[in-house]
Amino acid sequence: MATVKEEKMEVLPVKREHYSLIIGGERVESVSGETYTTYNPATGEAVATVAKASIEDAERAVQAARHAFDNGKWKRFPVGKRARVLNKIASIMRSRFNELVELEVLDSGKTISAAQGQVMQAIEDFEFYAGAIVGHRGNVNSMPGQFFNYTQKEPVGVCAQIIPWNYPLMMAAWKIAPALAAGCSVVLKPASLTPLTAIVLTEICHEAGVPEGVVNVLPGSGSKIGNYLVEHPIVDKVAFTGSTPIGKDIMAKASQTLKRVTLELGGKSPSLIFEDADVEAAVNGSLFGIFYNTGQSCEARSRIYIHESIYDQFIEKFVEKTKQLKLGNTLDAGTHVGAIISKDQLETIDSYVQSAIEDGATVLAGGKPAVVEGYEKGYWYEPTIIADVNHSMKAVKEEIFGPVAVVMKFKDEKEVIGLANDSEYGLASAIWTKDHARATRVANEIKSGIVMINTPFSAFPGTPFGGYKQSGFGRELSIETLDLYSETKSVLSYFGAKPLNPFGL
Ligand code: NAD
Ligand code: MN
Repeated sequence: MATVKEEKMEVLPVKREHYSLIIGGERVESVSGETYTTYNPATGEAVATVAKASIEDAERAVQAARHAFDNGKWKRFPVGKRARVLNKIASIMRSRFNELVELEVLDSGKTISAAQGQVMQAIEDFEFYAGAIVGHRGNVNSMPGQFFNYTQKEPVGVCAQIIPWNYPLMMAAWKIAPALAAGCSVVLKPASLTPLTAIVLTEICHEAGVPEGVVNVLPGSGSKIGNYLVEHPIVDKVAFTGSTPIGKDIMAKASQTLKRVTLELGGKSPSLIFEDADVEAAVNGSLFGIFYNTGQSCEARSRIYIHESIYDQFIEKFVEKTKQLKLGNTLDAGTHVGAIISKDQLETIDSYVQSAIEDGATVLAGGKPAVVEGYEKGYWYEPTIIADVNHSMKAVKEEIFGPVAVVMKFKDEKEVIGLANDSEYGLASAIWTKDHARATRVANEIKSGIVMINTPFSAFPGTPFGGYKQSGFGRELSIETLDLYSETKSVLSYFGAKPLNPFGL
């Protein structure tokens, strides 16, 4: 059946009742006709309906992305023109900043202050890559004799990008911006619980001038759609952010077609608070480090090691301030901690806390689901601190992905480095000390992709973000990321006057 194609996708309000798939530059419904409802986890209220991608839709999206890459103009644009489009995406996002923030708050249950920072960072990611791509280039290498060699960076091709629910728009920007900058095509699968802002971002990409088929978005099931993309023979790369078990599964499946793979996975990141730390700053940084985004952060600093000489002082302040954290109206700038994404996640968090109690731990704050007045239908958990723990406990070893910190004492630098590194994960770590030499020494010894010294902030556009060990591999948010969306082509030529005849025949 022939359809009359709109020249350009109509611009709709950011917040609306229904959101469609975007395939080949068009808003479309699922071939199956299926839709589902997304909810606000803070209130339990419905936010919107969303088209639910089927396998047929995924196939169309992959074909559209492939066609756009092989025959389209995006990768052939002069790099300055791609940069201009990325900056245009950022400026449209800026002009709809408040609407994007509100939609993010409603779809994810996070607080408005968290969403504001994340939407701003998403904008700055596009601006960062608009600048970075202009300087991304190959080399001229020194060669023997009459040979000349240069390398050039070429886009890797069709990229399947699969993202989680904890930073819906920011993760979409972390994925889409470098892929577009490098000249790739994208099929993005947002988390089914939080698809809305990723869909709007894809619409904005088209409004800004990204050609049809270059960015496609497929809200839907991870095990169905995600899996289909990972196994698809004409997808060149998979970039995944999510849990470690699914990351392993994706890597195994992608190996069948030898796709390029980058994985940003879980964490159990430590804070090391030394005897000479500014205790007030370490307390405030640790509060933010674990309770920001309701602890639903891969780089949450969920293991806190405190030098024995300041332990009591630190704990007293940390517990006192934790009890002051406000839960409730997520659209109020005074709310510190938002909702938990789902009932399942709430139960998982609570079962970790219960397991710690059964293992003999002591709860210093929180320790149970929160009852928040006016938000009884939402999913809430009390900001929780657990003491008297050790490294054999599940709650200390595994990622909880909620507002739960475990606290432990240490005696000296060597001991705490050993404790910090005693984890399958290696995403981030924080060091609190006024001694610069110590900070540098410890940073060198820690096995994590990110080290923060006297700051709770883990990244800005430009700082490489990614893990060691089972936290995954590859780096996002940085110059390095562009290489992960590129192939390096080596071109070797001979310019001698005398033709080469290596066999001498
Ligand atoms: P998840 O692994 O369940 O899901 C992530 C995404 O993968 C979702 O879009 C999901 O639909 C999809 N998916 C699920 N099963 C799949 C399959 N079999 N094949 C392909 N795709 C599939 O994780 P989550 O619960 O949504 O997110 C929380 C996890 O993400 C945490 O473990 C957290 O540490 C991690 N995370 C890591 C980073 C990082 O940068 N390292 C950032 C954010 C979140
Ligand atoms: Mn939602």
